[in-house]
Order: sequence, then structure tokens, then C-alpha cells
Amino acid sequence: MVVKAVIFDWGGTLTPWHEVDGRAAWVAFARGYGTMACALNDLTAGLLAADQAAWQAAREEHRSRTLAEILASCGVEPSSAAAEAGLAAYWDFWEPHTLTHPGVWPVLDALSSAGLRIGVLSNTTWPRDYHRGLFERDGVADLIDAEVYSCEIGVTKPHPDAFHAVLAELGVSAEEAVFVGDRLHEDIEGAAAVGMRTILLEHPMYAGDHLTPSTAVPDDVVRDLSEIVPLLTDAGSVGRG
Ligand SMILES: [Mg+2]
Repeated sequence: MVVKAVIFDWGGTLTPWHEVDGRAAWVAFARGYGTMACALNDLTAGLLAADQAAWQAAREEHRSRTLAEILASCGVEPSSAAAEAGLAAYWDFWEPHTLTHPGVWPVLDALSSAGLRIGVLSNTTWPRDYHRGLFERDGVADLIDAEVYSCEIGVTKPHPDAFHAVLAELGVSAEEAVFVGDRLHEDIEGAAAVGMRTILLEHPMYAGDHLTPSTAVPDDVVRDLSEIVPLLTDAGSVGRG
């Protein structure tokens, strides 16, 4: 089957893998929001718990929640001026953890030049505009043909609907697409279940204790994204017209 599209996970795949202090992110929000002392601790604890519950629902029920829902569940009106100030501080906190890996542009450029369409499928509570802004900031937005964010479709990887959503946006069948991700359960097992070829980006930092166990076996394993270019652009293996 001719490969026509490559679909990437976002966190840990297109961004370098980072350990992030989730509580510190919500402390930043609460400070920006204008709370202090005990109120700051209470709001931070509430938002952290709501965020963790959202990720638990993503893992265990494959349901996706939005950032606005997390805020609202703690009594924060998402469109209020105070919330916007909180979010500005929250995004500032996240800034160093959202940088596109410097090796991504040459990889996407090579795949795109070989005639492949590029997609992104991310489990996320963050809005499309924010994600899109990161790709624009880092100069890769023009190389991405379709983006699907779980919070917009209500389900998370490995739910098959998530993969079908991005395949539909790209206009390709599962058999014509390759999925590249860093998690065995969400990315590799999910993509393989709908019929996609899979490539695992392996992270030496993954201890595995926060990951859902999986016995999925990827079609290929790489340690660096640049390794996927020869895998997918060897003569005869890509669609050039
Ligand atoms: Mg990932």
C-alpha cells in the first residue's frame, strides 16, 4: 500500500520530552488570576485536581475535556478578564515546555517534499488556537495539513474515532497513513487497531510508571525523528502523484 500521509502525536513527539510540574503551572494561573495566600492555595489545588481528573478520564474512559471546562469546574469564568490574566501567566509557564523540537522542520519538509501529507493528532485540553500559535511561533505551521485536538472531538487516543477524525481531514485511508508517536498504548496500539502502520519514537527517559501498559508492537522504532525520513521516502514506498 502506498503511504500518502504521516500523522504525528504532539507532546513528546514533536516537542522534546519534558517532566513538567503540573502544580506549578496552576500556581502560575492562580497568581495571574489575582488570588493570594489561602485562596491561591485553594484555587491551585482545585485546578490541579480538575486537571488530573481530566487526564484520568482521558486514560481510563478515552473522554477528552477542555481547558474551559477545567476552569469552570473550579468556579472560574473562562472568558473573564481575571481568567485571561491567569491564562497569560499559565501560557508563560508552559512556554519552555512547548517548543517544537528543532529537528521537526527538516523532517516535515522532507516528507512534504516527497509528496506526503502531514497530520497532527494530540490528546490535549488546550484550544486549537493555542496549539496553532505554537506551530506558527516555531515556523512549522505551513507544513502541517491537518490538526485534530482531542478536546474538540470529545475522545482521546487510543479511541478509534480520534484516528478516523484526522484520517478524514487528510482525505486518506488508514492503510495509506503512518502514525508516529511516543506512547505504546495511546499512539501505537490505537493507530494499529484502525489499520495504520506505526512508528514508535522511543524515549530513554520513560520509566513507564505513568503509562498505560501495552503489548503493542510498532512496525518500526526510532530514537530520533530524522530516522523516519529514510523509512518513509525510500524509492517505491511513497506516493508521489
Ligand atoms: Mg506523546
